Amino acid sequence: MSSRAVMTASAAAAGLRGASLLRAARPRAHHARGAPPARRRGSSRVAVASTDAEIPEPETSAAVASSEEATGGTTDDPAAADAPSEPIPVGSNLGALQDQLAALMAQNQELQKDIESLKPPEPETAAVASDASEASEAASDVYDPLVGGGRPRTDPLYPRPEPRVLQPGELLNASSESEIRWPDPSEDPPFWEREPYPAPLENSGRVGESIQRTETPLHVVHVTAEMAPIAKVGGLGDVVTGLARAHTVAGHAVEVILPYYSSIEGKVENLQHVMDFDVPKGTETEWDGVRETRIDQFGTSMFSGVIGGCNVILLRPSGRERSNIFVGGKIYGGSYNELEAYLYFCRAALECLRVTGRDPNVIHVHEWQCSAVAMLYWDLYHAQGMLRNAKVMLTIHNMDNTGECRQEEFIATGLNGEDFNTLEKAMDERTIGHNPERMCLLKGAIVYSNYVTTVSPTYAREALGGGGGFLAKTLQSSRMKFAGVLNGVDEDIWDARLDPFLPSNFKPGAMEGKALCKKYLQMGLGMDVNPDKPLVVCVSRLVPQKGIELIKHSIPHTKSQGGQFVLLGSGHSDPPFSAMAQGEFRDDPDVKLLIFYSDQLSHLLYAAADMVLVPSMFEPCGLTQMIAMEYGALPVVRKTGGLADTVFDLDDFGVPEEKRNGFVFEGADHGSLEACLNRGFDKFKHQRAFWRETQEKVMGENNTWAKAGREYERIYAAMQMGM
Ligand code: ADP
Repeated sequence: MSSRAVMTASAAAAGLRGASLLRAARPRAHHARGAPPARRRGSSRVAVASTDAEIPEPETSAAVASSEEATGGTTDDPAAADAPSEPIPVGSNLGALQDQLAALMAQNQELQKDIESLKPPEPETAAVASDASEASEAASDVYDPLVGGGRPRTDPLYPRPEPRVLQPGELLNASSESEIRWPDPSEDPPFWEREPYPAPLENSGRVGESIQRTETPLHVVHVTAEMAPIAKVGGLGDVVTGLARAHTVAGHAVEVILPYYSSIEGKVENLQHVMDFDVPKGTETEWDGVRETRIDQFGTSMFSGVIGGCNVILLRPSGRERSNIFVGGKIYGGSYNELEAYLYFCRAALECLRVTGRDPNVIHVHEWQCSAVAMLYWDLYHAQGMLRNAKVMLTIHNMDNTGECRQEEFIATGLNGEDFNTLEKAMDERTIGHNPERMCLLKGAIVYSNYVTTVSPTYAREALGGGGGFLAKTLQSSRMKFAGVLNGVDEDIWDARLDPFLPSNFKPGAMEGKALCKKYLQMGLGMDVNPDKPLVVCVSRLVPQKGIELIKHSIPHTKSQGGQFVLLGSGHSDPPFSAMAQGEFRDDPDVKLLIFYSDQLSHLLYAAADMVLVPSMFEPCGLTQMIAMEYGALPVVRKTGGLADTVFDLDDFGVPEEKRNGFVFEGADHGSLEACLNRGFDKFKHQRAFWRETQEKVMGENNTWAKAGREYERIYAAMQMGM
């Protein structure tokens, strides 16, 4: 079978200098170990790999929305304007560095102003493009089991008080037993979809109180596939929103670039259609045994909006009729090719920065889906002077998926994968000797990023060894720019004192609401209403990583010990749980297996739980054990990754007493799990005062984004200084 790359008439008509584009970004020099392979030109610390490629002029399609002017969008080449000062030469002294930093800070202040002016106008005055307003109006009332959310249901029979500002320490809702409208299992829609209690008005939260304002604001752009609460599948979404919000509160100009999935239409606040622009996108076709590659200008629509209190930029193909990319009922798993979609999204994100004149200080990319951004940034956008300021940070949330990619598939970025498919760049070592060798996008991003983090110190150590698989070698050679930063919990979302999804709130010193939440859940799910039965909860994606076998075993074991078990989970390993739910545990008063996704219900489960089980085989960080503690539920975890960094056994006298906060086991066998759970049951039943004391202690733990956000600020600052 022959394989050749040709340019089609349509690409030529689109004004592309195609042949040269296909050669784009071919580096001439090998990069230094532990540094992006391509950096600055001339006197910079590491020479840029020059390219012989011509890059298409910034061209936006004619369909730039009228709101462009208002939002400051421009089709001018940003490289021509506001060029930053020259890079610092190698060996320059501290004074020069400080001057450079001062210049950057001044520039940041200007950027801040620009960002302010880029914010969408107030909804009532906004000139909203028609499809955007249609999207808002089309807000779905229907609860989406995969995405959660949906518009809260209003219940005219149950009037709610007006939202208000709370006094420090005041509970949002202190309903007593007689004030609660107790749920019924036959309710339709189910009780957890009732309208939430009105959230407190601003300034009632804790996040703003604990976050320090920065004196050196940066313009940070995240590029991500998930964002809580509306585009969340797991912890990635929580982390992006938590970190972005913490940094926004700290005074940085933060924007998040996210695919505009059709499943989030109608759920984005302040949605505005900003502009349309073209993105080079290659397609590989095969006809009669001949492979062809064509590059088209792919019309792309840019929207701005707010998700979870953060400014977002949403990107999707312009013509829904021409492409089904990002179309589907949920975040992942639509009927499009995910690899192609995210490669296109990476290119679109960089194009978006370019055509709107943004030139951020930090581009923070997440996971394999957004890894190509790091590669394209240095070898194309920075190398060609189209974007100049940014340093690139990669955060690896999970190494389970590494972004396998055939070299030909990379053409979806508009660039030839061959240029990146070398051992020192993105080649997947496992495929050496194959014809041709494949690429690993996550490896490419590790190599190309200025700094790489993963989400806990223990997972970072594991990744450098056996846990990192074939990527361990790449991480080892990037050792100087790799660290584990423990995730935080977003206390604006997860706070027992202020959570609007609870029938009654609680806090250390006022724990009555927790008992009411347990009773409410037991009643709502049709369980035996009994405060003395220890309630074990598991909220999890149901995939092998999460310890499926152990979760399965813990269900009958908990029941046999006189406890209750509630599982809320979904994922490709859920069939055995569905079978148990329909079979042996159907109508069981002590076991409920809920095989779906519900953000609202998860809040109630954490609040009601006595223990939260996380028996993962590996766990990069894990949020559920930290969320559990925010709600006074004691975690029961397997000692791995971030679980080992956050949970310390109450019976481990080798650990300082103040750090002990849960139950930990090491083995992956039933016996280890049972023994650990039994210690928990025993303490719950026989040491009630100690249990209460421990609950209140864990609620005071400081696993916040204020803390984690500062760590990231330090790394961002170090990157600005030339790391
Ligand atoms: P991962 O990112 O591997 O899924 P984490 O523990 O880091 O694991 O994050 C899981 C997040 O997803 C938590 O916020 C948890 O509450 C949420 N979650 C997982 N499964 C469900 C579900 N079925 N319904 C609601 N929330 C869920």
